[in-house]
Amino acid sequence: MPKKFRVFATCDIGDAIDLLRQRGYEVEIYPKPEAPPKSLIVEKVKSGIDGLITTLRDSIDAEVFEAGKEKLRVVAQIAVGFDNISRADANRYKIPFTNTAEVLTEATAEFAFFMMGALARKLWTAEHLTRDNKWSYWHPYLPFLGDEVTGKTIAIIGTGRIGLAMIKKCAGFDMNILCYDPAYQNHDYVKAIQENMDLRHVRGISKTKNWIKYVGVDEALSQADFVSVHVPLIREGESAAPTYHLFNERTLRRMKPTAFLVNTSRGPVVEEAALAKALREKWIAGAALDVYEKEPLSADSPLRDPAIEDRCRLYPHFASAGRITRLSSDPEKGMAGRTVQGLIDVLEGNYGGDVTKMPYVVNKEVGSL
Ligand code: NAD
Repeated sequence: MPKKFRVFATCDIGDAIDLLRQRGYEVEIYPKPEAPPKSLIVEKVKSGIDGLITTLRDSIDAEVFEAGKEKLRVVAQIAVGFDNISRADANRYKIPFTNTAEVLTEATAEFAFFMMGALARKLWTAEHLTRDNKWSYWHPYLPFLGDEVTGKTIAIIGTGRIGLAMIKKCAGFDMNILCYDPAYQNHDYVKAIQENMDLRHVRGISKTKNWIKYVGVDEALSQADFVSVHVPLIREGESAAPTYHLFNERTLRRMKPTAFLVNTSRGPVVEEAALAKALREKWIAGAALDVYEKEPLSADSPLRDPAIEDRCRLYPHFASAGRITRLSSDPEKGMAGRTVQGLIDVLEGNYGGDVTKMPYVVNKEVGSL
């Protein structure tokens, strides 16, 4: 039985926690569904816990790491995005943190795809018509029509794990694909998708000969019928290519008036006031959002304006919310399992205690600080 470790989890992550308890860990779980106050996280860390399980709604910064400087050895985040954790401060205090990349990739990409379909084919408006008993006739174009996804052109902004998974799904719908990523370009993947598109055409599976290519941001935004965003939130000063307000008045105006925006990345990547204006003034045809500048979405958000209701789909940060993806205890399948394994790796010194070799540690540079 390994040494008994103390862990505080800021939320319940399901049965995967039992894996820790079975190993003799003492685990305390914050019992409420909403986020604990920051002061409580600091208090728990100060009390001498070895590991902290966090989510994207917890701000893990210098105050938390300072509180843990004597004892805290790992922060295990149940999410792939880690913009709520200060990497610079984690490194300053030499505390590794983990995330749950990969296990949520397909679930998030498929949700982005479904959001795109729901938006373009007006599923919400169409269901309301039926439920509200306002469907009074079949007519060739009244009361409204939607836009097909099949055969259209999509711009994938960010071709990391989720962007590439979205590409794979869009290729299945005979879409043409414009890729934009200033930091990482996977030309091998793009070549394989093109070969797949060519084969589908030659063998008569796809009527059209589709294409995929990397382009600059201007071409991506101005040519696409759909724009799907798959970047991390990077604030000014954190990188040469920040993503904070990447979608603003200037970039939204580059899109076609018939185009749709889909955002499953992080809320602050899109400037919401500019987007609401773009929808009201019809610079673009519609938007579907899963993430917001401030979550949960406030009651007075301009995105709730009834004037844009038919063109603006709103979801509750739900893209990774599949049962297996969120809760499987298997670290190869579930975010919960991966969170727990990342924590165990650090606390029990797996991989010879070398954090640079631990697959779920994000700030591997702590190993050489
Ligand atoms: P990833 O790191 O594999 O991919 C991100 C890509 O964005 C990288 O290739 C990077 O080079 C690129 N990029 C960085 N700056 C850019 C810029 N200015 N313009 C265009 N591309 C840029 O990450 P991932 O696993 O694909 O996840 C992407 C993000 O999706 C996460 O960081 C997270 O914030 C978000 N996410 C949201 C949900 C949800 O439930 N809505 C679920 C999972 C992930």
